[in-house]
Amino acid sequence: MTGAVGGWAEGIGWFVLGAFGWTLFEYVLHRWAFHEMRGKHLGSREHLEHHVRAQWSFDPVILLAWAGVVLAGWGWGSLGTKAAGPVGWALGAGWIVGYFFYEYHHAQSHLRGPRNRWERWVRINHFHHHFGHPLSNQGVTVGWWDVVFRTQERPERVRVPRRLAMPWLLDEQGEVRPEYRDDYELVGARDVSDRQVAIDRARAFANLVPHE
Ligand SMILES: [Zn+2]
Ligand SMILES: [Zn+2]
Repeated sequence: MTGAVGGWAEGIGWFVLGAFGWTLFEYVLHRWAFHEMRGKHLGSREHLEHHVRAQWSFDPVILLAWAGVVLAGWGWGSLGTKAAGPVGWALGAGWIVGYFFYEYHHAQSHLRGPRNRWERWVRINHFHHHFGHPLSNQGVTVGWWDVVFRTQERPERVRVPRRLAMPWLLDEQGEVRPEYRDDYELVGARDVSDRQVAIDRARAFANLVPHE
């Protein structure tokens, strides 16, 4: 093996380690910092608000998260350089890419239907987290930490409250599109009164599943 090839292999190794580290942090952050804290700090409140309406939209607060992740990635990268020289920056790069991969696919899961088997799994896994059991399926892009920490649930079908349904799930009549009927069913009324939103908020902040 030439030195250059060895360098690339080492860089890829550090990158994969950084991305793998991110997946653990994704789980820890989502479960213990966001859900278990029940709105006691900004990050937790932002996340539980996401559960109230179960829609994804751009909120400028997310720029804080992006800045924090890039800063943490820089920290990991500089630690990597102490262990391995310049190639160690790949550790921080893997962390940052891992995060943006998660962020992108979380947003996409709310905004559009699946295009392959993995995206189908991501959506079933994540919408069961939203509508079936908010303390299960804490991993969004990978399921292995839910297996390790025994929080993985695989529903036969995801039961989606009509008022919270993802736009891509529905046809013009407001029913589940035929291609998604094996995986999802609609329950409850379409009611989005202020009272219903208040109930959804209280339940989201208590880590309870939204009422049907
Ligand atoms: Zn979500
Ligand atoms: Zn959540």
